[in-house]
Amino acid sequence: MMMFAELNTPLRTIMTPGPVEVDPRVLRAMSTPILGQFDPAFTDIMNNVMKMLQRTFKTNNEWAFPIDGTSRSGLEAVLASVIEPGDKVLIPIYGRFGHLLTEIAERYGAEIHLLHTDWGTVFDPEEVITEMKKVNPKIVAMVHGETSTGCMQPLEEIGRACREADVLFIVDAVATIGGADVQTDNWYIDAAIGGNQKCLSVPSGNAPITYNDRIEKILKQRKKVERGIATEQELAEGRSFSAIRSNYFDLSQLQDYWGPRRLNHHTEATSMLYALHEGLRIVLEEGLEQRFKRHKLHEKALIAGIEGMGLELFGDARSKLPTVTCIKIPDGIEAESVRSMMLNDFGVEIASSFGPLHGKIWRIGTMGYSCRKENVLFALASLEAALIRHGAKVNAGQALQASLNAYEKEKSLI
Ligand SMILES: *Cc1c(COP(=O)(O)O)cnc(C)c1O
Repeated sequence: MMMFAELNTPLRTIMTPGPVEVDPRVLRAMSTPILGQFDPAFTDIMNNVMKMLQRTFKTNNEWAFPIDGTSRSGLEAVLASVIEPGDKVLIPIYGRFGHLLTEIAERYGAEIHLLHTDWGTVFDPEEVITEMKKVNPKIVAMVHGETSTGCMQPLEEIGRACREADVLFIVDAVATIGGADVQTDNWYIDAAIGGNQKCLSVPSGNAPITYNDRIEKILKQRKKVERGIATEQELAEGRSFSAIRSNYFDLSQLQDYWGPRRLNHHTEATSMLYALHEGLRIVLEEGLEQRFKRHKLHEKALIAGIEGMGLELFGDARSKLPTVTCIKIPDGIEAESVRSMMLNDFGVEIASSFGPLHGKIWRIGTMGYSCRKENVLFALASLEAALIRHGAKVNAGQALQASLNAYEKEKSLI
């Protein structure tokens, strides 16, 4: 009989925009023994995760819990539950993940209205607001931090205008939650979706979301039982009574499971919940504001090194996403060969890019547990060595000194 060897994974320094290195405390929490999903010891853990998510999202919303699946499961749960066929959804796109929102909203029957701006820039909020008033959609859905372009969209003005016009504002905060400020309530965000494997340093596998009573009202309206029009037979059969087209992503059923009713829906992903519980504990122990400062510091030190080497950054510096840095690939350099050398010779992973930016930029993440001084310095050292090996003209030896200088200046933050 053929035997398979035990897992033997290489040790990596992961400096991509996700998945990033997982905090060892989270890995340890994942080996905690399994509990039954209605065991009070487990439902206590569920309740604590909800409380920690409310703080992390900076919200007073009653509902904040994870959806089992990768980050897009959070996006899909919100969009599937809120969009009714024919609803107008306005999606301002400034990178790849705007297209993901479009792709999901389309599948649930939305009438899609798009607004585009060049990749590497973000929208002037006024432009989105003007279009929102023209289209009069039920929903404006957009990305907060675009991992594909390294840009971050200011949201508050758009959120305020949406609230005034009674339009729902749904935000993909997958790449920012836990790494850059996300103020769900202050920015008038009706539903926000976060991500594990980016700045929370938890493996991919569940996706934290939060939503307010404006969203909950729609969930209720879509439930026959709440409107008193479920038949006796439907009630007896315990059917879903909901017009939401997905069972797995039906937020009205999910909140009945997460809430005090504890109605059975799915079997909660026990070990993933332990992981998220520990990941959130670490975030709140460090403190959100301190954590954002730390992410900014390592971003600054990385940029100092990149520029010290003589390389150029991609994208409008005024709207830079602090957790992802995009670098223009120097002319005539074989980009994939540089990346392979970094991985094979140094065990350092950085990311290539998508669509119109493919072959033009590399992307380096400074997220969560990966966002550490030794990782930044090692990434710079390996990039410089690989570039020199590939015949690029760089200011040899300058990157690490510039980066160390940046760290020196802000010692107190490390
Ligand atoms: C990573 C990412 C996603 C998708 O996450 P998956 O876990 O791959 O489903 C969505 N939006 C943004 C902004 C991301 O960075």
